[in-house]
Amino acid sequence: MRLTDKICLITGSGSGIGQSSALLFASEGATVIVNDLDASKGAETVEQIRAAGGKAEFIRADVTNPAEVDAMVKQTIESFGRIDVLFNNAGISGVGALHEVEPDAWDRVMNINIRGVYMPSKYVLPHMMERRAGSIINMSSCIAEIGLARRASYAATKGAVLALTKSMQVDYAPYGIRVNALLPGTIMTPFVENYLKTSYDDPEAAIASLKSRQLSGDLGRPDDVAKAALFLASDDSKFMMGSPLYIDGGVVFGKNA
Ligand code: NAD
Repeated sequence: MRLTDKICLITGSGSGIGQSSALLFASEGATVIVNDLDASKGAETVEQIRAAGGKAEFIRADVTNPAEVDAMVKQTIESFGRIDVLFNNAGISGVGALHEVEPDAWDRVMNINIRGVYMPSKYVLPHMMERRAGSIINMSSCIAEIGLARRASYAATKGAVLALTKSMQVDYAPYGIRVNALLPGTIMTPFVENYLKTSYDDPEAAIASLKSRQLSGDLGRPDDVAKAALFLASDDSKFMMGSPLYIDGGVVFGKNA
């Protein structure tokens, strides 16, 4: 039980990696605050956690909206007294080379993927600073470190999240707060299934092409990233500060040919 009595807020945990992390954190003893924009998906995560004997509450909030995020953090502090772990996981995909991306689509990806990390952090940090403890996990992507075709807006946001992570770590280390980033490769979640449908005529060929840039023969599963998030959330990673953690089947550091 690596998260006994820890209060963990996970944004976008109604689906995919966030949901898998919520289930794993709860099974390790955490009380999980499940956040999502979509109330039915969030409720489903809570139901699964409670069915397995774990503790969870759902709070609907848009991670880009200051009033909603402020209310979510206040409600959590009132109910549970503190937040030990903030996992800034919520994010959306963005497809297209730069000249193909319309301004509204560009702004939407920037807003959710960058402002959606800034906003929960802004409201949670004062509580962590007061307690002089906490772990913040920011969701970047291996795309922050490699060029991938037609993902300009998405790559820009995930690079920004990685830079922000390092900057946050320097500012909050004096308060005993750790800030690290996850850099997954391709993980089969609804997010990726949607990307495959909208970007390729032949999804099977697309999956083969995604696999060809990895060393692993399999694409990642949400649980692979959840286990890395658990490590960063727990004291097992107490000497990790401002670090990128790769869960990518060998995309960034491997070469197949
Ligand atoms: P997903 O679409 O399955 O889940 C994302 C969840 O975030 C959804 O439930 C959605 O409703 C929620 N969400 C979206 N906007 C929100 C908002 N404004 N406020 C609150 N909740 C919001 O996606 P996933 O694949 O599990 O991805 C999770 C994170 O991991 C994202 O940040 C994504 O960029 C990142 N990531 C995913 C992969 C991958 O291959 N799946 C790879 C690298 C990084």
